[in-house]
Amino acid sequence: MGTDNLKFTLGDLAHRNFRSDEFWREIPGYKDVSREEFQDHKWQLKNSIVKVDQVKNILGHRCTDAFYHDMLEGQKITPMNIRITPYIFSLINWDDPTNDPIRKQFLPLGSQFLPDHPYYQEDSLHEDIDSPVPTLTHRYPDKVLFLPTTICPVYCSYCTRSRIIGGSTEAVEKETYGFNPKKMQDVFDYIKSKPAVEDVVISGGDAFMLTSKQIEFIGDNLLEIPHIRRLRFATKGIAIYPQKILTDDEWFNALNRVHKKARSMGKQVVIHTHFSSPKEITEWSRLAVDRLFQEGIVVRNQAVLQEGVNDTVNDMVLLVRQLSLMNVQPYYVYMHDMVPGCEHFRTSIHEGVELEKAVRGMTAGFNTPTFVCDLPGGGGKRHVASYEYYDRDHGISVWRAPNVKPGQVFTYFDPIRKLPKEVQARWAIESEREKMIQESIKKAGF
Ligand code: SF4
Repeated sequence: MGTDNLKFTLGDLAHRNFRSDEFWREIPGYKDVSREEFQDHKWQLKNSIVKVDQVKNILGHRCTDAFYHDMLEGQKITPMNIRITPYIFSLINWDDPTNDPIRKQFLPLGSQFLPDHPYYQEDSLHEDIDSPVPTLTHRYPDKVLFLPTTICPVYCSYCTRSRIIGGSTEAVEKETYGFNPKKMQDVFDYIKSKPAVEDVVISGGDAFMLTSKQIEFIGDNLLEIPHIRRLRFATKGIAIYPQKILTDDEWFNALNRVHKKARSMGKQVVIHTHFSSPKEITEWSRLAVDRLFQEGIVVRNQAVLQEGVNDTVNDMVLLVRQLSLMNVQPYYVYMHDMVPGCEHFRTSIHEGVELEKAVRGMTAGFNTPTFVCDLPGGGGKRHVASYEYYDRDHGISVWRAPNVKPGQVFTYFDPIRKLPKEVQARWAIESEREKMIQESIKKAGF
């Protein structure tokens, strides 16, 4: 990577074009669906695709037997079930689905998977270990992560919480849960007992799957805690299901009531969303974000860096510029977590640093995402270039997180396939791996 493939110029205005054609009518199963039906949030949810058979039925002759078979093979390996809205399904380029960045994220093929890294973890970020009460993670001094549901309107192949999200698969047994107000009292009591906590991220799962009453229940309970200053509702929904914002008035009004109540108390309620590829952005996205913007609800974006999805300078710059144009702040780009079933998506720290260098300066600083590595073992997010030591040849980076876990040393590993052949051979031997890691930690000065 580098700036060699940088085709953007300051005068390039491609980011101002938002797709508004009836793209879904190119899909045989949706050719008779009107714009009104397609815009209806209930229609989108009711017609979501949850089985490979449905893909074949909807695509008809556009799905080859080989592709269909490859998808079925993918279901034997992936830790995530299928769930995808007709909207985002229709944005896939079905003339070349194998290379399409949206297809890669939601409809995995058996042929794309690689063996997991030897140091992958199901709970790579130690959210369960750093959990004082069920469904709550407390890692940073003033912030907690609350997971009131493990259900989403789509299931992403690269999900960092694949251990709990979206129900069991052929490969993984998991305990998925929905909203349960009785169990939340422990969460509220814990937060009340920690006066240093000011910030609550309400994630999951996805806030789009909370009802209007549940949004208000959570919002009211948290806002009434005097030391809570900021709530963030996390949803990928705006990216994959903007119809919810545009046509589910009951849900939108509930969110808006919580937002207005917070503002009257001098507090903040914002949305964190999750566009990864510029191909996910259409006129529908712009209209949905604009409805939130008109009410003064801030939206920030957190993308995950994924090979073949958004790892080129052109794609990342286009994503950043389109988000900015919609008034979404491009807040973070994450290095991929070291979780199962995702090795084909991961990039190296070097690639992350180079991409951040190429993106910086293309637009205003406040619209430039911070590229971060969320440290395996629960060290929290660190700027991608802030490692203590990086051995690029061996794919080992060494980190500290003094405000989160003082005195602890963390390591992150580049994908083995990106290392020189002789180093790959060393990674195949357990004792050699340990030796390489210990050498890097020593060189880092620990
Ligand atoms: S929307 Fe978020 S929580 Fe849900 S599957 Fe995707 S990445 Fe995981």
